[in-house]
Amino acid sequence: MFNLNALIRENIKNLKPYSSARDEYSGSASVFLDANENPFNTPYNRYPDPFQGEVKEKLAAIKGVPAQNIFLGNGSDEPIDLLYRAFCEPKVDNVISISPSYGMYTVCANINNVELRNVLLTKDFQLEADAVLEKVDAHTKLIFLCSPNNPSGNLLDKVEMLKIVTSFHGLVVVDEAYIDFCPDESLLGDLLKHPNLVILQTFSKAWGLAGVRFGMAYVSNEILTVLNKIKYPYNLNILTQKVVLEQMENLEQKEGWVNEILEEKEQMIRELRKLDYVSKIYPSDANFVLIKAEKAREKYNILVEKSIIIRDRSKVVLCEDCLRITIGSKEENKQLFAALKEL
Ligand SMILES: *Cc1c(COP(=O)(O)O)cnc(C)c1O
Repeated sequence: MFNLNALIRENIKNLKPYSSARDEYSGSASVFLDANENPFNTPYNRYPDPFQGEVKEKLAAIKGVPAQNIFLGNGSDEPIDLLYRAFCEPKVDNVISISPSYGMYTVCANINNVELRNVLLTKDFQLEADAVLEKVDAHTKLIFLCSPNNPSGNLLDKVEMLKIVTSFHGLVVVDEAYIDFCPDESLLGDLLKHPNLVILQTFSKAWGLAGVRFGMAYVSNEILTVLNKIKYPYNLNILTQKVVLEQMENLEQKEGWVNEILEEKEQMIRELRKLDYVSKIYPSDANFVLIKAEKAREKYNILVEKSIIIRDRSKVVLCEDCLRITIGSKEENKQLFAALKEL
């Protein structure tokens, strides 16, 4: 049986969280003299809404998820770190991540002094639930999955992911940073059936807001309570909240970008197929493509000299001679194609 309370670190369970002025009085009023704010320089003088009520309401309507199941962070990197801090006792607990995958799971494990156990994907970058579950012991608190996965670009098998969710008694974190490029494949519809499921999404990719730093974790209300208890009181500044509210008014714009990027991806794949030094183009469900190329590092360096930067992933496990290419604008992609032809 899943028991969230048994997973929380003892010090966090006992923690008395910081109580801000806006926690102690959150209603409306005409005179606020409780937070030592400066009366000048409106609107920047006021602290932001600590629980981002307005943003959550709007996001809830777009995503079809209740606001009480949404945690908002300064990028999705914030909830990743908070999950470690809430649930993983340094030097005692462990977490499992698929490999290769996003680097932040490992970095946060190292910062928090928590053991990370890597489970290799298959050579086609697919997930085998049993290989992950084999590594679980009594101290395993979190399992990180990433779908579509970075750097491979593919969706993970949904049946295998749900097998892990239903068999494991800790939290399963499914990072869906790229899910807007294949929205029907999201696990969000399964969220409320699984109290141990955490789904991460972000506005950094499809929404074009990487510089604004806005990410979300969809969670049970119990997990939300734990994350709220330990986050910085005002983790999302008013500028971020304002920009995100504005951008959510324009869903069509984001969907237009996604469609354009997907069309450009097809063009990118057609161009890559023409190159004899490219031996493999991995299937992509994201806004980037992973390829295997002869002398990958050398090709990367030549592109750098031409002022075109892609990502060299050739030192990553299962990614020997692999390069990762983000889909850019039509013009950027054309410049890349021209350079690739000369290599
Ligand atoms: C880009 C990316 C993110 C985004 O992180 P933010 O902190 O929201 O910018 C998260 N996960 C993966 C796998 C990514 O590739």
